[in-house]
Amino acid sequence: MRRPLVAGNWKMHGDAGFIEAYAGALRRAGRAKDVDVLVFPPACYLDRLVAAVAGTGVEVGAQNAHWANDGAFTGEIAPGMVRELGAGWVLAGHSERRALFGDTDERVADKIVAALEANLQPILCVGESLAEREAGSAEAVVARQFGVVAERIGREGLARLSVAYEPVWAIGTGRTASPAQAQDMHAYLRSLIEARSGGVARDLRILYGGSVTPENAPALFAEPDIDGVLVGGASLVVERLLAIVRAAEAVGAHRN
Ligand code: PEP
Repeated sequence: MRRPLVAGNWKMHGDAGFIEAYAGALRRAGRAKDVDVLVFPPACYLDRLVAAVAGTGVEVGAQNAHWANDGAFTGEIAPGMVRELGAGWVLAGHSERRALFGDTDERVADKIVAALEANLQPILCVGESLAEREAGSAEAVVARQFGVVAERIGREGLARLSVAYEPVWAIGTGRTASPAQAQDMHAYLRSLIEARSGGVARDLRILYGGSVTPENAPALFAEPDIDGVLVGGASLVVERLLAIVRAAEAVGAHRN
């Protein structure tokens, strides 16, 4: 059984007051029922958010971590440091990291390996650009991005991985993939995982990301291979994140 996962990626937004108010709203909302809720704040706020959400069941992760655990890497943060701040998760391969910070498939794989070694739960982000989709190569791009990581981490690593399918053309654009488009890619990804390591595919969570809102979340969750969502913009308004959690709860209850 794959428990639904709702993850909010704040990107480079938020401050101490924002965290206080956000965590207060999460506390008032109470624990989500049969849904995992996860928030990715900027790294400098990890421990502050961990402390603020204590007791709510909400987990915390880093948006990025380095591939080495220490060394001369000015400005970078090691996975062990993320762990020490109390966070349990890390994103790798977000399209903004790939496009703006030079994270290649190989670097993403390095980061996933390092995250696993530091006992973090990694979420691998994959997704094609609009040009790649229009050229008919969406599946090939996603297969390549996933394959480089899968090759490195093997069955044992895959059993600890989650994947987020985030078509680049849907991130921050207000243009969501249709539930059917997302379901098709999720089913394809699951078939790739199945081909590499049978039993793991059934339990590995595949999230959809790209302009998810409370309005479109129910239709996305209704698809059998969409196990959760990675939410950017809408997660900055805690009531909208909570509304997406409610949508996940409704479908989770229906699936059980
Ligand atoms: C993201 O940052 O991963 C994302 C999907 O952003 P948005 O929801 O704003 O499209």
